[in-house]
Amino acid sequence: MKKRVLEINNLTKKFGSLYAVNDVTFEVYEGEILSVIGPNGAGKSTTFKLISSFLKPSSGEVIFNREKISGLKPHIVARKGVVRTFQETTVFKSMSVRDNIIIAHQLQAKSNLLGFFFNTKLAKEDTQRFGKSADEIIEFLGLSDVKDELASNLPHGLLRALGIANALACKPKVLLLDEPFAGMNHDETRRCMNMVKQIKNSGVTVLLVEHDMPAVMEISDRIVVISFGEKIAEGKPEEIQKNPKVIEAYLGV
Ligand code: ADP
Ligand code: MG
Repeated sequence: MKKRVLEINNLTKKFGSLYAVNDVTFEVYEGEILSVIGPNGAGKSTTFKLISSFLKPSSGEVIFNREKISGLKPHIVARKGVVRTFQETTVFKSMSVRDNIIIAHQLQAKSNLLGFFFNTKLAKEDTQRFGKSADEIIEFLGLSDVKDELASNLPHGLLRALGIANALACKPKVLLLDEPFAGMNHDETRRCMNMVKQIKNSGVTVLLVEHDMPAVMEISDRIVVISFGEKIAEGKPEEIQKNPKVIEAYLGV
């Protein structure tokens, strides 16, 4: 039997009189890649912010492993294992790829971040410990050739990949990726798709928002479609592609 990791129950978010997310219900199973798709402004990013607790729902709830997580602080939810990356990458541009991932570990462990900058003894021990894990992530994501590059020197695609690496430092059980392939060229998209598949293969459940439809259709186990804040379809990629409601939502006919 498939295990449910997330239950999104009647989730609603109003901004003034606008229902950005309106009574959305779906489940996420352990180890799957579930994509949330829909036209611009449909409420995808808002859904992700509600799941990761960066926004508080107007009504409805999010259950993670049978525990209600909506209403908890985002860093608490992240520590429980529900981690999102940001549409805008948040990295330290003047530091190397490897140091960025080490800092992400330190932020997660709430350890001696200032010590890292001042190079204190305690921080050195942390850095060694987290360095090992950072190297594993670097290897795992195939970033070894750029690990000593300054983040500011990275091309767009690799900068986004670093955002994913930083999220992995939080040891997620569920990873939410909001448009990870946005602005990437074909090769970068392929590389990043392989990363997402690797992440899934390591047992992490992946929630994905993405506009690149061929990529979504190839990579997803299941898809939830939202339009004007409401769920209009749910199913396997091949079912979604021929669903008349989905076609209508995209073409506006
Ligand atoms: P998507 O990610 O599917 O493109 P969003 O979730 O970002 O859509 O937005 C859904 C709707 O909610 C849009 O109409 C957007 O303008 C609106 N919206 C999103 N965030 C806010 C906010 N903080 N305040 C007011 N309206 C918002
Ligand atoms: Mg969005």
